[in-house]
Amino acid sequence: MSSEQEKINSYEIAKKQVDIATKYLDLDPGSVEKLKYTKRELIVHFPVKMDDETVRVFTGYRVQHNVSRGPAKGGIRYHPSVDLDEVRALAMWMTWKSAVVNIPFGGAKGGVQCNPKEMSLHEIEHLTRRFTWEISLLLGPEQDIPAPDVYTNPQVMAWMMDTYSMLKGYSVPGVVTGKPIELGGSLGRFEATGRGVVITALEALKFLNKPIEGAKVAIQGCGNVGGVAAKHFDRLGAKVIAISDSMRGIYNERGLDLQRILEYKAKYQCFVCEKKEESEITNQELLELDCDILVPAAIENQITEKNAPRIEAKIIVEGANGPTTPEADEILNEKGIFIVPDILANAGGVTVSYFEWVQNLQELIWSEEEVLDRLTRIMQRSFKEVLEISLSKKIPMRTAALVLGIGRVAEATRLRGIYP
Ligand code: NAD
Repeated sequence: MSSEQEKINSYEIAKKQVDIATKYLDLDPGSVEKLKYTKRELIVHFPVKMDDETVRVFTGYRVQHNVSRGPAKGGIRYHPSVDLDEVRALAMWMTWKSAVVNIPFGGAKGGVQCNPKEMSLHEIEHLTRRFTWEISLLLGPEQDIPAPDVYTNPQVMAWMMDTYSMLKGYSVPGVVTGKPIELGGSLGRFEATGRGVVITALEALKFLNKPIEGAKVAIQGCGNVGGVAAKHFDRLGAKVIAISDSMRGIYNERGLDLQRILEYKAKYQCFVCEKKEESEITNQELLELDCDILVPAAIENQITEKNAPRIEAKIIVEGANGPTTPEADEILNEKGIFIVPDILANAGGVTVSYFEWVQNLQELIWSEEEVLDRLTRIMQRSFKEVLEISLSKKIPMRTAALVLGIGRVAEATRLRGIYP
């Protein structure tokens, strides 16, 4: 991460977004102020015995932003840059996201400051189990339900579920989502966020009267979100011209041989240029490619006022949370770039997490077809609702999504009143 990126505080950005959006909502100043605060923040420092028998102390966080509309919901991130303000911002965005797609969850997020790439599977398991125990007083299917995020996956969710279940004395599958299917995970959950990105991209293309066939797509990040989105763009006839991971990207202006590239990446954890039309590309170069659709699907603050003037994409569909700063937003809006904002574009994950939670609570198993059908309908409806606000109020899609999400949360808070 560059020093420029380190200086950007996502929580300040998230609070600024509340100020921008609430100008279009008739709320009293006290209610607006409340929305900028998180509800609960737990910081834990805990020891883990490493493979070489040394003990390392890790710092972890669980932050609940708002539970007016339902239990707290949000992912767990393992990354060296995790800190309290990052987790606060991500928790706040979860609140708005759940409200945009109108599912009965509040917002939360968690994370541990660590570098899982330098840890063994054993060490990651020990870290996960102890972290789960440390934050277990906040967790529960009716209280707070984690899911995977950057550098966590279904296996990590399985360890979290097992640890929580051991504490309770019986199996509690509904305490986390994004679990392996064998433990009560939902069919379609692994692919849900990437598919949601593609569904909203299709809606954007439809609105702009552009075809998906042959559309040039550049994707930053090749994890759960970026990798799945790439596969489905390719399946629908788009040309994925570039994709990257934290190290570098690969580019072919005529379209990548995606299956081969994804298989190689899965096997060797990196990209390699095997054809003469393919070239290596940096993450910065990828963002500035001339393309129809740009999908930032890695981490926050990738599009800033520094590189926004050079962004050539016609449409940006934000797979990642918070990839664009407000200053960059203004530049992109002036350039007429159509943005499908994060709290709409990547809401497919929390939507199918909700389906998983519902199936767990009711001990049901839905078919993949049923999950995808429900996901598609919710994403299309949400896109339409955000677009209508954007057009009627003449405001950018991001502001419109925030107006919809924050408006719903504010109304739920008003109806509940202030206790006691
Ligand atoms: P992941 O761990 O599966 O993949 C992350 C990808 O980003 C990897 O390819 C990694 O190499 C790349 N990356 C990491 N640091 C980078 C950097 N500095 N520059 C460029 N690339 C970098 O994570 P994911 O689940 O795909 O999450 C990606 C983004 O999507 C995050 O912002 C996450 O919060 C968001 N998101 C994820 C989900 C979900 O269901 N997994 C849901 C909603 C939003």
